Amino acid sequence: MTAIAVLGSTNMDLVAYVPKAPRLGETVTGREFRTAPGGKGANQAVAAARLGGEVVMIGAVGADEFGVRLRAGLASAGVETAALRTVEGASGTAHITVDDEGGNSIIVIPGANARVTGLEAGDASRIGAADCLLLQLELPLEAVLAGAEAARAHGVRTVLTPAPAQPLPAGLLAATGLLVPNEHEAAALTGLTDPHRAAEALLREVPEVVVTLGAAGCLYAARGREPVTVAAPRVRAVDTTAAGDTFVGALAVALGEGRAMPEALAWASVAASLSVQRPGAQDSMPTRAEVDRAAG
Ligand code: ADP
Repeated sequence: MTAIAVLGSTNMDLVAYVPKAPRLGETVTGREFRTAPGGKGANQAVAAARLGGEVVMIGAVGADEFGVRLRAGLASAGVETAALRTVEGASGTAHITVDDEGGNSIIVIPGANARVTGLEAGDASRIGAADCLLLQLELPLEAVLAGAEAARAHGVRTVLTPAPAQPLPAGLLAATGLLVPNEHEAAALTGLTDPHRAAEALLREVPEVVVTLGAAGCLYAARGREPVTVAAPRVRAVDTTAAGDTFVGALAVALGEGRAMPEALAWASVAASLSVQRPGAQDSMPTRAEVDRAAG
């Protein structure tokens, strides 16, 4: 079994479905309201656990009703939550408006996630015991950096999803083994809109890069090797929320099982392509059996 540590965010998504999003100062009547667990860290943790990874989640929820639900949701997906702190105040929330065209706007209030400013007792050894550490950028950057450095000190592979896109602290890329931006994040990091050129530029900082390209699949680049494009299965997408997180969770599981990169990428693409055919974030993530069946 692949042991995976995730140091990242846990949010409650609060989703309002409206015919048309309100302009500033306007009030509109919506169609429906739903809550669903989210946060990039928790999404990657659930994706990996559903695919058979042994996952520990390091982060924080608030001392509120959402915190109780978020923790229970992770536990029921099979994620170990002993290192998920409950801190004073509100849990992280994402306030999402989805209109009839499928367009959305999102306000994220970090809440408890903002209180994770570093590692706590036991975290470094949890990271050290893992095959790989999954990081994103929804926690304070000093915590992300501390996690990456702990992983490097233990010789653990670090997979960083640089989202939401933002300037990175010195040292974070140097401690990253595999960087997995989508094409927009790759462009934001490098100023280069061509994914091949962006990947090439990123290889100056990290040894391996996977740029995800939505329906077009992904591009894998490693120092000293020819870049490889891996196609995504052609499917009818209904909701691409958390496609990238499903992809990363699956990739971590496959690599931990010793699969070579191109094969691991193909398997992760199948997992992500299954998730886009169903609505929701964590709700849309496939099981191991589903991915193995679809991968043939
Ligand atoms: P993010 O969700 O982070 O923006 P992408 O949109 O690049 O990332 O999607 C991540 C992965 O999910 C892609 O590399 C691909 O494997 C899969 N994927 C995304 N959209 C589709 C789609 N419409 N059809 C098939 N696979 C998709």
